[in-house]
Amino acid sequence: MWNYLEDASNYQGHADKILIPKTEPELLEILAEAQAAAIPVTIAGGGSGLTGGRVPEGGWSVSLEKFNTIKIHDGFAVCGAGAILGDLHSAARRSGQFYPPDPTEIMAAIGGTISCNACGSRSFMYGATRRWIRRLRVALMDGRVLDVRRGEAIDFPVQPVHRPASTKHSAGYPLETGMDWIDLFTGSEGTLGVVIEAELELRPLPKELLNGIVFFATDEDAINAVEAWRSIPALRMLEYADQPSLNLIREKYTDLPAKAVACVIVEQIVEDDSAVDAWVDRLAAQNALADESWFGSAEADRERFRGFRHSLAEKVIQMVRQMGFPKLGSDFSVPIAKNREMLTYYRDQIAARFPAPHAIFGHIGDAHVHVNLFPSSEALIAEGKKLMDDFALKSVELGGTIAAEHGLGKRKRHFLPFMFSPSEIESMKAVKLRLDPKWLLGRGNLFPTSPAHPEA
Ligand SMILES: Cc1cc2nc3c(=O)[nH]c(=O)nc-3n(C[C@H](O)[C@H](O)[C@H](O)COP(=O)(O)OP(=O)(O)OC[C@H]3O[C@@H](n4cnc5c(N)ncnc54)[C@H](O)[C@@H]3O)c2cc1C
Repeated sequence: MWNYLEDASNYQGHADKILIPKTEPELLEILAEAQAAAIPVTIAGGGSGLTGGRVPEGGWSVSLEKFNTIKIHDGFAVCGAGAILGDLHSAARRSGQFYPPDPTEIMAAIGGTISCNACGSRSFMYGATRRWIRRLRVALMDGRVLDVRRGEAIDFPVQPVHRPASTKHSAGYPLETGMDWIDLFTGSEGTLGVVIEAELELRPLPKELLNGIVFFATDEDAINAVEAWRSIPALRMLEYADQPSLNLIREKYTDLPAKAVACVIVEQIVEDDSAVDAWVDRLAAQNALADESWFGSAEADRERFRGFRHSLAEKVIQMVRQMGFPKLGSDFSVPIAKNREMLTYYRDQIAARFPAPHAIFGHIGDAHVHVNLFPSSEALIAEGKKLMDDFALKSVELGGTIAAEHGLGKRKRHFLPFMFSPSEIESMKAVKLRLDPKWLLGRGNLFPTSPAHPEA
């Protein structure tokens, strides 16, 4: 879907060679050659990343697409890094199980989701990809292949870095004394090692799920509902879309209620039909457009609602590609108690500074919405970039993160100093230099090429 020199954020790059090894020895040979000749290597997964992380800026692009095996066992799956997420979901379902992380873009590769510590809508209940990794097989630039299980600590000291108070976070290395190898590699955006294979935990499929898209006639009612519904037992999805977002997909979803100015998307694990009565009461209590809201418990309903949610993100990507502007999309998550404050900040700043279309939707259950700006001129692109910087700074001020699930890649690497002190960044660079002394792997991701590292 995306060629090797771009990703879904429309970031474009260039490479001297594109290599597609078929076996582990072939991959190791490529890495050894690159190491000997000091050639930068950028690893390509499915290309659905949103920060330019897999886009090379010279050197070699190495795709793991041939490492695509999926073996399902009772309670876990063993996947090659190039296995496609959608294929894992299907294979797990056939065995009566499921893989909890669901960053909705099913064309992502397992190695990419690990390297970004991807989340998605179900992370409201299940957390990020990191939590579901039991074992990782990783190639390092010095020729070693590490096969590490959960609980195996790194064998060198690190200077810890602080964590935000948000429920989601995927920016920089989460350095901690005595941390696991798995925690170090997960979310490292292809800068520390090449993920070859992963053992991932599976869960038994829930017996019954209830899905709903609840529409509201005012945005205030929708946000009140989010705050009221966050603590509902067994809720595994709590998503939001504002009016401009709904307008983006009205053409496709012609039955979308005319009066709707916002929606909240929910998914709950339920015991039986009595759960529906509770939702009838909840909709009434929150002034929802009860008669026009959609609920269902069949697989077909679930897929339709999933498609509805995913079509928002797809529409944004499509517009970015058609209009040819850089993707200006936020990925900030703040502490739950700061959800409203952050939303108000987004809206006030956009109203004052950005006279062009925008859309806000996403994982509001984790105080993590994506703000998408659609600039129509060079001046608006510049203002949109400044707005994103200010949003990042505001997120940090509120105790949140600069990247909740997409990572920083190349597009957002300048956010790193917004959140981390110079000494914290130095301690991350020290880890990078220990595992990749020539600074070859994923060059340009997380850290700008730096004169402090003359080889980079
Ligand atoms: C429509 C749409 C919706 C999306 N929705 C969500 C969402 O809800 N939640 C979410 O978290 N993300 C979402 N994403 C983003 C994207 O799907 C994730 O970031 C995904 O994890 C990227 O996987 P990929 O295989 O496509 O990675 P790529 O784009 O190919 O690469 C991403 C990064 O991983 C590195 N990498 C890839 N494979 C390896 C490997 N084997 N070893 C080491 N490094 C590697 C690359 O170098 C790069 O830095 C969405 C994307 C799209 C297009």
